[in-house]
Amino acid sequence: MIDEPFFPTTDVLKSRDRTQQAFHERAARVAVERFGRQVFLRAVVEVSNFCRENCSYCGMRRGHRDLARHRARLDQMAELLVRHRPASVTDVNIQSGEDPVVVREVVLPLIKILRRETSLGISVCLGTLSREFYDELLAAGASLYILKFEIADAGLYAQMAAPGTLAERLEHIRWLAASGWNVSSGFIAGLPGQTEDTLLANFACARELSLDGCSVSPFIPGDETPLANAPAADIDLTLNCMAALRLMRPRWVIPAVSALNLAGPGDGYRRGLRTGANLVTINLTPPDLRKDYLLYRRDRFIMTEERILSALEAEGLKPSRQSLVDYYRREKSPGTGGRSPRNVVAAV
Ligand code: SAM
Repeated sequence: MIDEPFFPTTDVLKSRDRTQQAFHERAARVAVERFGRQVFLRAVVEVSNFCRENCSYCGMRRGHRDLARHRARLDQMAELLVRHRPASVTDVNIQSGEDPVVVREVVLPLIKILRRETSLGISVCLGTLSREFYDELLAAGASLYILKFEIADAGLYAQMAAPGTLAERLEHIRWLAASGWNVSSGFIAGLPGQTEDTLLANFACARELSLDGCSVSPFIPGDETPLANAPAADIDLTLNCMAALRLMRPRWVIPAVSALNLAGPGDGYRRGLRTGANLVTINLTPPDLRKDYLLYRRDRFIMTEERILSALEAEGLKPSRQSLVDYYRREKSPGTGGRSPRNVVAAV
């Protein structure tokens, strides 16, 4: 059965100038047909930079011994999200290094408070945890798990010391998708050592997974990582990957990630919104925690509410009043006619 037959080629991913513009316009049209000009708007809070993993590309890797490590305080996070979140935010993503302690002490109680006090949709991005934790997080009231497969080529995955093994990471993604979670995954574009084939492998991998969303993050060399001297991902390649995801799976929620501003200073983020991205994220992490939540460089480009709203307005887009989680709930409920069957084998 043929579902959505688009699959990128290397030539498409390398396109530039007018061909590229036409490709992005096609992807943006597909997003508008599916979602209108509405873009989901969520907040992210980064609650711990302790991490038991040692990914070569990430500044929070456990081997980075000079990094001051912190966990957020539950009362501070609850106060921020219950009383001081921007009015435009419909969802929150709670993110951290892979730190089971913060899950137990902060994330689980925070989700229960948010469920009781707010109608926010709740996403988590906490790494690979035990199945018991996944069940507890779902029961507490989170419903979207973000777990990127990062690199679909097992050799490059191992070379980059990405979490566990690729097979384990995929097993967790599949388990989450089969056990009641909405799942968003993703990959890093432009990593050192990535070839045309290993880049394309990311699309083949994403296509086989039962996902609700997928992201492309441009590789940004982290100052305090083993890859500090590697070049950053090419912004055009990253944007082409985003457009290709949109055409491959029109129904996916695809974020414009803040690192687009680092890969494409000046206009990278706005160009991302022109490739069919339909999710934007306001960073609400308090500054004292944010300074050591080190993915790449200390001079992070922080997406404030003002920056996000003005980028959306400039692109003729509007923040959605419907939460992401509500969208998924309706899309999956029988009778709404919203979605095509999952696990359909797509033709190349
Ligand atoms: N620890 C959790 C996990 O493993 O899913 C979530 C937090 S992790 C720091 C968030 C994401 O940052 C990773 O999934 C990875 O894709 C991204 N990341 C880290 N370093 C990066 C870099 N140098 N360039 C691009 N993305 C990076």
